[in-house]
Amino acid sequence: MKKQFDIIAGPCSAESPEQVMECAVSLAAQGIGTLRAGVWKPRTRPNSFEGAGLPALEWLKAAKQATGMKLAVEVASAAHVQAALEADIDILWIGSRTTPSPFAVQEIADSLKGTGVPVMIKNPINPDVDLWTGAIERLQQAGIENIRAIHRGFSSTQENLLRYAPQWEIPIELRRRMPSLPILCDPSHMAGRREYVGAIAQMALDMNADGLFIEVHPNPEQAKSDSLQQFTPSQFQQVISSLRRHRDIEESDSRKLAPMRSELDELDSQLVEILARRMEIVKRIGAYKHLNNLAILQPQRYQSVSDSVAIEAATKGMDEKFIRSVFETIHAESVRCQLENENNNLK
Ligand code: PEP
Ligand code: MN
Repeated sequence: MKKQFDIIAGPCSAESPEQVMECAVSLAAQGIGTLRAGVWKPRTRPNSFEGAGLPALEWLKAAKQATGMKLAVEVASAAHVQAALEADIDILWIGSRTTPSPFAVQEIADSLKGTGVPVMIKNPINPDVDLWTGAIERLQQAGIENIRAIHRGFSSTQENLLRYAPQWEIPIELRRRMPSLPILCDPSHMAGRREYVGAIAQMALDMNADGLFIEVHPNPEQAKSDSLQQFTPSQFQQVISSLRRHRDIEESDSRKLAPMRSELDELDSQLVEILARRMEIVKRIGAYKHLNNLAILQPQRYQSVSDSVAIEAATKGMDEKFIRSVFETIHAESVRCQLENENNNLK
């Protein structure tokens, strides 16, 4: 049976009673069970729209009464939690600018003790899987059992087509650490532009996400926040209906994959063996540098290793950037080993 796949949708911000109601009614008609909406908006810079605040909770309540949808809002403090719970909000989420603050997350966790309210935790805006894990652990330790993570992408210093880089390796690592934790994907914030939201949503499905968290606004052009990335309800419907869903892996698939996987296992073990042999030589080179008063880091040598493996990888049809990043890691470990030996020599 296909595992559960949840789609939560709604406007970036609750802006008016009419906007909230229109959005909820159109999403409920598409079978969406949970409405998301920002009531308090954590803006990177001041003087932007910071959310409608308490009155918006009333608009959301009215939408719930009219449609039967569950409600999800972002909270960043104990006061937000209290107000949201008084307004019968069903699910709370911690935003990407709050997750990286252990004080704020702890305050929220403490205020949720004993409530059993489901909580979703967005990744920290900076690519730090420990901060994400730590925030989840704080909620777990407060006794919250219904926790989901939301992968919304990471800020980066590099120019990117997308507003926030997906860095899929980070949710992959979170999944390795917490295998039973559902991870939803928020393609809207990652994309930053609605043209790219569908492609990222498909990638999320391909990466086995447990659901989607998407911004939908009845009139995105007029939206008070994130207007470029929000879908109209009909764009949303089109994208969702064209997503390619996958079936779950079955016994027969595992049987067919087994021989290829064992070939991989054999190669991986050879890779480890070769890396260990390489590291032995690295240590001998380190000893020579030490005896002959040479610096450990020899940038020209690193450059020439990186260039020659990149050329060789290209002739084998591999991505040059990939092989350079593999050798960046290998080189960093070689330098670390030589430094460690140097320090031992100093003792
Ligand atoms: C949002 O979901 O509207 C939001 C503010 O998200 P993030 O914390 O990911 O920027
Ligand atoms: Mn938003």
